[in-house]
Amino acid sequence: MKTSCRGVVIGAGTMGANLARLILRNGMAVTVLDIDSSALARCRQALHSETGSGEQPRFVSDWAQVGACEVVVESVTEDLTLKQRVLKEAERHVGDATLLLTNTSGLSIDELAEVLTHPARFMGAHFFNPADLIPSVEVVPGRSTSDACVERASEWLRQLGKRPAVLRHCVPGFVANRLQHALMRECLALLEQGVIDAEALDDLVRYSIGIRLAINGPLRQRDLNGLDTHLNIARYLYDDLENRTTPGPLLESLVEEGRLGRKSGRGFHEWPEGNAEAYARHERMLLERLLAILDDELE
Ligand code: NAD
Repeated sequence: MKTSCRGVVIGAGTMGANLARLILRNGMAVTVLDIDSSALARCRQALHSETGSGEQPRFVSDWAQVGACEVVVESVTEDLTLKQRVLKEAERHVGDATLLLTNTSGLSIDELAEVLTHPARFMGAHFFNPADLIPSVEVVPGRSTSDACVERASEWLRQLGKRPAVLRHCVPGFVANRLQHALMRECLALLEQGVIDAEALDDLVRYSIGIRLAINGPLRQRDLNGLDTHLNIARYLYDDLENRTTPGPLLESLVEEGRLGRKSGRGFHEWPEGNAEAYARHERMLLERLLAILDDELE
């Protein structure tokens, strides 16, 4: 599929721009479609130095300007009704064999597929930010997705240098966001109880379980520790772990106060003017170095 593959990314936001960069860097042609001209302009600016396939990326505001394509990645705002509308529209303009992928963070693939005429070629392809850098992609089939299309999508992702993780079936939040939210529910409870402060918690996780998870994953890590030991701890600990079923007061109040994190200048930590961009560059550099080490040492 690689040499002739033409991809369309719908949505020129944070994820869409990096998805387009990823496709270009792997020698494929890409068209970015967005209804917001300022989002398209920002995306064009972000990609201006990319040469990839030799073919310039195209930035369009409607399907009439798109033409033939083999893969569509929908990456618009996380809203079920909007995504259904966008996917239905995409299906009207592409051939029956075109793969239709959604970058939803965890909406139901079956609910999204309800509006489609040919759902066999539709599935989730959940990338991680920054999408051009983070290797894993969750591939999430719905009830109607064909095995052949899952394999085609996985092969396309491998051609992009990704590590597709194919789920057997769709669960809300898929796998990675379920794990992130389980961890964050406990973190927020520990902050609310005053057990630890934000600075110390981040430092503790980074330099303890964080580095070992990157090397081993959670299950191999437990194998190394011994499942009998894990069971003994689980027996006395589970009863005390946070198990609330709605977001707690700390998270609600942070958001209410406008403490949204990097984008508003303050979250758990302070983000002074100019600091956010510098941090993003620093984080990217560290990610590249860590990934290079993991590739060299562990494969
Ligand atoms: P974003 O807000 O940065 O970008 C969304 C873009 O969609 C905007 O440019 C908007 O103009 C465009 N859009 C809205 N309606 C449209 C329409 N009808 N047609 C074409 N374009 C339209 O959002 P994002 O962070 O890039 O997230 C996009 C998707 O990726 C969401 O489903 C999100 O859950 C998922 N995702 C985000 C992250 C992340 O870390 N940001 C990670 C993984 C997955």
